[in-house]
Amino acid sequence: MNKTFFIHTFGCQMNQYDSELVTGILEKEGLSRVDAYEKADLCLVNSCSVRELAAQKARSELGLFALYKRRSRKKVYYGIIGCLAEQEGKNLFKKFPDMDLIAGPAHERQLGQYVSSILAGNGPVIKTGEGVQDWDVDALIKRENSRSAWVTVSKGCNSFCSYCVVPYARGREESRPFSAIVREIKALTGRGYKEINLLGQNVNTYGRDLKGAAAGKDFSALLKEVNSLPGDFWVRFWTSHPKDIPDTLIDAVASGKKICPLFHLPVQSGSDAILKAMNRKYTAGQYLEITEKIRKKIPGAAISTDFIVGFPGETEKDLELSLELYRKARFDTAFTYKYSPRKGTRAFDLKDEVSKDVKEERLRALMTLQKELGLEINRQFIGTVRDVMLSAPGPGPAGGRDRTNRPFLVEGVKKYKEGEIVSVKVTGAAPFSLKGISL
Ligand code: SAH
Ligand code: SF4
Repeated sequence: MNKTFFIHTFGCQMNQYDSELVTGILEKEGLSRVDAYEKADLCLVNSCSVRELAAQKARSELGLFALYKRRSRKKVYYGIIGCLAEQEGKNLFKKFPDMDLIAGPAHERQLGQYVSSILAGNGPVIKTGEGVQDWDVDALIKRENSRSAWVTVSKGCNSFCSYCVVPYARGREESRPFSAIVREIKALTGRGYKEINLLGQNVNTYGRDLKGAAAGKDFSALLKEVNSLPGDFWVRFWTSHPKDIPDTLIDAVASGKKICPLFHLPVQSGSDAILKAMNRKYTAGQYLEITEKIRKKIPGAAISTDFIVGFPGETEKDLELSLELYRKARFDTAFTYKYSPRKGTRAFDLKDEVSKDVKEERLRALMTLQKELGLEINRQFIGTVRDVMLSAPGPGPAGGRDRTNRPFLVEGVKKYKEGEIVSVKVTGAAPFSLKGISL
């Protein structure tokens, strides 16, 4: 009988992508995916380690797998992939001595052979550190959604922000071949995909390491090429680093009809002292110059961001500067996080820790502002007409998102397919969403 596997995915879109890729890889090896670990022969957790809470969740999932392995009458295998696997490696055996697989992100494309070896009874496999590069494997990806796709353009990160584990967990930045990306998107849109999300830790530095025929191609060139492909589809891209926003990129978004006018541009803090300590390589003033340029060149563009509160040494004044920058940039939306010290990063040893309560308070202040400004901005859309791409039909009113990624509730649509675009007259606004009626 075919062996089965289960994957629980934590963390960012990159991990979601990797799980879809691992699914394709393991299915090629003859395994089939099941939706509960109690049904599986091989249980995997695709882990995140960007904040401690995420790491804890992955560890507790491993605890469940370990118990299941011990109690099950059949032979069960379990393991961990993703960022925590890379970061903790063999140390995980201390708590989970009977684990069968530990593989960091750089080794996931070879998972087929590792899993076959484990299932053949050859013992545990531990793979961390530098991996074997093979972008061809990405063609095996088994996507869960048939209208919206994530397409990796680069992996790893060279930025080394002082708080962040990503460069350690995912290694140096590496661009996927230009032609492979374009080929994949052409195939996806040919099969009816309506939304393409280009994915990288910092998409703006895409191409710097390309050689041969693609040498000199950058992210703007990629956007232009994708925009020129036939078909009716929307393109989004995540994430942009503010230190690398050339005018050519803004121009490519401005002129590309299929490219959504949305920049996810994590700022992290509005205080120059904190930005310096974070190694972000821009000041609050320089950041605002970029947002102003974007808004001038692309009227109606949305700008979303990430903030961290409670970085070591952050004062009330620093928080005030973050709130001030939030107002000045008029962010459309934001992800806000409490600083979580990560072992191995440069900030880990910094003194002047901010207490848990103060972090909580500062997060609340930022979220309150986010809510107030979100409502103010969203109210301006009442009475206007927006194109909305509908999500999969479900119970209740239709849902979807417009080009700036604002969530919508849409009345007046009956029979529809996911990915369909409808014109919607906005009738109501909330801090994080809009509602309207289909015309
Ligand atoms: N490469 C992307 C995203 C990386 S992680 C980028 O640079 O934008 C996503 C977000 O998690 C970051 O933008 C940051 O706001 C947050 N983050 C990263 N490390 C963190 C830490 N140690 N504590 C709290 N938040 C963190
Ligand atoms: Fe982490 Fe900074 Fe790289 Fe983003 S750019 S992944 S925050 S090191």
